[in-house]
Formats: sequence, C-alpha cells, structure tokens
Amino acid sequence: MDFVPVFLPVTKQPEDGWWFIFCGDKLLVKEEKTDVLIPSSTDVSGLMMNLISTHGIGRLEGKPCYASEVHEEVSAPTGMIFQGLRSLLGHLDEEVFLVAGRAFQCLGWDKDHQYCGKCGGRTELRLDELARSCPACGLISHPEVTPAVIVAVIRGEEILLARSHRFQGSFFSVLAGFVEAGETFERCVKREVREEVAIEVDNIRYFGSQPWPFPHSLMVGFTAEYAGGEISIDDKEISEAGWFTAETLPEVPRTGTIARRLIEWFCDNHKPEKSV
Ligand SMILES: [Zn+2]
Repeated sequence: MDFVPVFLPVTKQPEDGWWFIFCGDKLLVKEEKTDVLIPSSTDVSGLMMNLISTHGIGRLEGKPCYASEVHEEVSAPTGMIFQGLRSLLGHLDEEVFLVAGRAFQCLGWDKDHQYCGKCGGRTELRLDELARSCPACGLISHPEVTPAVIVAVIRGEEILLARSHRFQGSFFSVLAGFVEAGETFERCVKREVREEVAIEVDNIRYFGSQPWPFPHSLMVGFTAEYAGGEISIDDKEISEAGWFTAETLPEVPRTGTIARRLIEWFCDNHKPEKSV
C-alpha cells in the first residue's frame, strides 16, 4: 500500500475511491472475516446525503481518499461499524492507519479554523490546496503538525521507563515530550529527560517516527545513552520511573506504537548473556 498525501479538489461527483468517514472520533470500517477495511464509494453511496464536510486528502494505490464526517445520529450502513480510531491501531493495515490519522487530523483542523485567528473573520476552504484562508485579511492556515520527541534511554543492559499521570492503564513507557519553539530535536531530548527524571543523556540517535493523530502530533523517536545523574521524578508529569532489563520489563505500550518499537529494539539488542 502506497499513500501520497496530495490535495484533491472534491467535486459534486467524486471519483471512485476510499472513504474515511468519522462520527466523532470513530471511523467507519467494514469487517470481513479477520480483516478490517475502509469502505469504497459504492459501500457508502447511501451516506452521501449525510456527510457534513468532505476533503480530498491524497491517493492510496492511485485511488483518491476522502475524509468526511457524519452527525452522531447517523447509523452505520449494514455490514459496517463506527470504531474508535485508537482501537484500530494494529488492526488496520499500517499505511491505511496513517491515512485514517491524516483524515482525522484534517477534519479536526478544519473544525478548529472556521474563524480567522488574526481578524476573527469567517474563513473559507481553498480550492487549490488543503488550507483555509480569510477573505478579509488573507491569513492562510494549513493542517498543523506538532512535533514531539520520544526516547529510549539506555544504561548498559537497562532501559529507562516511566509511568505518566496521563497514561490510561498501568503500563510504563519511554519518555516523551513536545518540542519547544526554537529547539532542536537533540536539545529537546536532553531537556525532557532532565526535566522529567533528572538524568543526563548523550549519543542521541534518530530511530524513526510515527504520526500520532491525537490530535495532531508527530512522534520522532530517538535512542540515547545514560551520561549521569540519579532518577528524581517530576511528580507533576511522572508517577514512577526506573531502570529495567529485558527480563524485568513491566507492562509496556501496545503493539503498533513507536514506544513499543523502541522497547522491542532495546530487547533485541540487549539480551542478557545466556549461561551455559
Ligand atoms: Zn482574517
């Protein structure tokens, strides 16, 4: 599956494609045996009158993808259900989940930018790009992306994991935090780790990234090495933190998240020597 996030103007009779239709934070999906699929134009033809707003958000395998929304009282067509986007992570194809995230982000951005942030005038959707502009003062807004770092701090055969007050559930994860204006990723990694657990790190290396559409983050993953300090938690953010080996891991985040990928990378690369 190959997705290209290009702008597609939406006409009265849209091209045949995939429809990412949300009801609140729930996405309309088809369940076929063990597969979770995105409905096609034919599948959702009966819903067209109920769509609140529609955006063309790109092409998946060459076919157009549309993001749209229905009111709460609209029920799913036969054979389909509205399912929470978060719960679909790991169930939808990985590339399709990224498109669903982009659809959710674009719809959220569109709702939050109906009025100009500069002059307060009513904004309009542009016809040549995915953007809203203000006819009165010309201000243009695009769907926003907020970068955040996420980092696996390693000390010998141990990884630093913490529990945040924000987590729902009892799992531990690697540290994460939003990038400040004027800050590089590397400095953000050092600052976040220092602020949250009073640990110094170096040898920061890029690991990978994951768009996180709740509501519009981009998680940028790094690995780093312990360079000094004793754990002292910032209890506004963190409730518990500690060093764990691959054999003493606590409950960790679910499959499909970059946090989980970082922890799996640690386990693969820091297996304790087996005694013979
Ligand atoms: Zn304006």
